[in-house]
This record gives sequence, C-alpha cells and structure tokens, in this order.
Amino acid sequence: MHYSGFRVIKEALTGHKGWGPAWRDVAPQKDYDYVIIGGGGHGLAAAYYLAREFGGKRIAVVEKGWLGGGNVGRNTTIVRSNYLLDGNAPFYEFSLKLWEGLEKELNYNAMVSQRGILNLVHTDAQRDAARRRGNAMILNGSDAELLDTEGVRKLYPFLNYDNARFPIKGGLLHRRGGTVRHDAVAWGYARAADRLGVDIIQNCEVTGFKIEAGKVLGVETTRGYIGAGKVASSVAGSSSRVMAMAGMRVPIESHVLQAFVSEALKPTIPGVITYGAGHFYCSQSDKGGLVFGGDIDGYNSYASRGNLPVVEDVIESGVSLIPAIGRVRLLRSWGGIMDMSMDGSPFIDKTHIEGLYFNGGWCYGGFKATPAAGWCLAHLLAKDTPHETATAYRLDRFRTGHAVDEKGQGAQPNLH
Ligand SMILES: Cc1cc2nc3c(=O)[nH]c(=O)nc-3n(C[C@H](O)[C@H](O)[C@H](O)COP(=O)(O)OP(=O)(O)OC[C@H]3O[C@@H](n4cnc5c(N)ncnc54)[C@H](O)[C@@H]3O)c2cc1C
Repeated sequence: MHYSGFRVIKEALTGHKGWGPAWRDVAPQKDYDYVIIGGGGHGLAAAYYLAREFGGKRIAVVEKGWLGGGNVGRNTTIVRSNYLLDGNAPFYEFSLKLWEGLEKELNYNAMVSQRGILNLVHTDAQRDAARRRGNAMILNGSDAELLDTEGVRKLYPFLNYDNARFPIKGGLLHRRGGTVRHDAVAWGYARAADRLGVDIIQNCEVTGFKIEAGKVLGVETTRGYIGAGKVASSVAGSSSRVMAMAGMRVPIESHVLQAFVSEALKPTIPGVITYGAGHFYCSQSDKGGLVFGGDIDGYNSYASRGNLPVVEDVIESGVSLIPAIGRVRLLRSWGGIMDMSMDGSPFIDKTHIEGLYFNGGWCYGGFKATPAAGWCLAHLLAKDTPHETATAYRLDRFRTGHAVDEKGQGAQPNLH
C-alpha cells in the first residue's frame, strides 16, 4: 500500500478499515543467503539497501525483541554531519545526504527536520576549535557558520549569556543538521525492506553460531537453527556479547546512556543546541517536550536504565545553560546500551571468520549514521570490499596504528 495524503483522507472517511500491517510476520526459513542479526536501524537499513542497491536475495533480519525496542527507538534523535577527521567526515556527509531523501524513498514519514544544530562556545580556545571544525566541514562538502554572541542571541534569546563562569562567546551553526523521529526510522526501513522480500523475524534471539573450518554456516536462535551464506552482526550495545558467541573479543565496552523528556511546552527551542561548558544537548519535539541528554553513566553495564548522579549532572548543565527550565517538570527518562569503542569511532568490517561480518562500536552517535551504516554494511556484504566512505572503520586499526579518535581522548571509552 502506498502512503499518501489522499490515502489518509480516504481512510479517515471509511473508518480506517483499509490499513494493512506495515510488514509481514514471518516464521524463519531453513536457510538464507544473508542473515543480519539485530532489527535496529542499522540492521534494517542494511537489509533494505542490500536488496535494493546490491541485488541481494533471500535476506533475513533476526531480532530478539521487537523493532524499535533497541537504541534506534531510545536515542535523542539528533542527526548531523559536523565531523572533523577525514576517516569520519565523508561517511557522515553521505549519511546526511541519504537522510535528506529518505522519506520520499521509503514512502514513510520519518519526520526528518533539518532545524539546525548549534554547538555553543564559551572560551577563545573553543572558538578556535569551532573555526577549525567548521572549515573542515565546509571542505568536506558540509555546511557551517560561526556565530558571535549576538548571532546566537538572535536565535536563542533565553540562554544564560552572562554567566561569569561560562559566558557564551558564540557558536558553530550547522543548518542541515536536525532531528528525525527515531522509531519511525526502524518502521520505515522495515516496511520498505519487507516490500523487497526481506524476512523480518521478531522475537528471535541469536544464541550461537555454527562455525566449521573457519567459516560461518548459520546461527542458532530461540526459534531454531537458521543456515546462512553470510551473517552480519549489527546489535549495537550487545556487540561484545554476540561476537563472544563466535569466539571473538571486540574492542568495545558497553555503557548506559540516558535520555530525558520534559512536559510539553509551547514552541521554545527552534533547533538543537549543545552546551560547550558541560555535556548537555537539547531539542524540542513536535509534541512540545524538551528532549535532552548528557554523558554516559561511565561504568560498564548491559542494563537499559541509568542512575541518579548522571540525572543530576545533566539537569545541572541544562539549568546552567537555560535557567528557565528549572521550573519545567520532567516527564520521563530511559536508558540505552551504548557500544563504546576505544577511539569513539565505529567498525564496519569482515572478521577473520569467513562469511561473518561486523557492524558496531557506534558509541552514542550511531543514529545519525543509520542510512550510511546500512548502505556500507550492505556494500561490504555484497562486494566483500568496504564502501569508499567507510574504509577507516577496520577492526584491526588499533594494531596498525590507524585509530580514528575524533575527540582526541585516547583509549578511554567513557570519555568519547
Ligand atoms: C539515550 C540515547 C541517546 C542517543 N542519542 C543519539 C543521537 O542523538 N544521535 C545519534 O546519532 N545517536 C544517538 N544514540 C546512539 C544510537 O541510538 C545508536 O548508536 C544506534 O541506534 C545503534 O544502532 P541500531 O539502531 O542498529 O541499534 P539498536 O536499535 O539497539 O539495534 C540492535 C538490535 O539488536 C538486537 N539484538 C541484540 N542482541 C541480539 C541477539 N542476540 N539476537 C537478535 N537480536 C539481538 C537488539 O534487541 C536491538 O533491537 C543515542 C543512544 C541512546 C541510548
């Protein structure tokens, strides 16, 4: 069924009896050419592009829970292409370009909203760093504008500008950045992949791999054994657990990241703002809630909930930047499990096991990467060579000294 305004009106006038399920509920077949583990944004996007761009057939996505139950439905919805390093910038620019045409392509309203992202600066040194980043962004085909204090004030008059400790000295504005309705992305890709014949199998947890003579033959699941020509793991925060089933130790630690939503307010915050003197990022959803977050909890965990010290830290940063929100009530918060890599950059690579591929290490920036990560994983699965924008995301980069450390923090996953 094609979704359109006309269709919505027709269904409204006929009692909404014509809507069908967005994707089929299928039982697993005996074997597939490709099995993708993880029905998050990345796994579903990979299945879609594999079928559409690379002519892949007999593809299954196996998901242990329900679509949208992982990080794809838990994130703070920010998409952007404001990276500095050559290993990252072309990849994220590719991703943002895919976001720009995504809704038309998928025939799905994912609420892609390029409302602009403003990274605030509070010191002269931060302004220098913002100028350098902005120049790199422009050279890599993205957009950037350096604003002074008055430029920021025009957009966000209610910020705390004259705080003696954290004065706002300007900001780097990336107008094409913005937000996308997170779980709609999973649903949109699932529906489009299903239309191309991809089997999406929910409530199907992978519990082991069948590997013989260095080659993967299939996966053991809670719904039985599924044979596969090629298997890709795309399970975000569960990466180290799933890859351990194949006998691999990946350079990833799992940490909790929390997100928060306030009660609904009148339109207040036009775009996405990030505080430069603390870790705080905030936007306003179309329903009016302020959507915000901060740092990871900073200890290893597989729990989808967070702890109070980080709640306090995030709220302190928020109130320090926007004192008026001190009176706003918090509606809800939740946690997601982040696959933090040692240099803060991801992996899209083959493994030493023939037919086994890995996509992970997205830390807390993998939502914006969803279209490109899916495309590049599909490219790797189909052609066995990395896509030109993802050549830096190798598993052996620490051994060869080619870390992609965007933040310059060293091997400290809790700092990336
Ligand atoms: C609070 C929070 C805020 C964030 N904010 C942003 C942001 O603003 N911008 C941004 O770019 N990124 C953000 N992120 C990060 C982003 O959400 C993730 O990097 C990205 O969603 C990960 O890819 P995914 O969508 O495929 O993951 P997921 O949706 O987590 O998909 C992985 C799937 O694998 C499944 N799985 C796990 N183990 C198995 C198994 N054994 N068998 C079968 N299935 C399995 C899981 O159930 C899950 O559905 C945030 C994350 C969180 C938690």
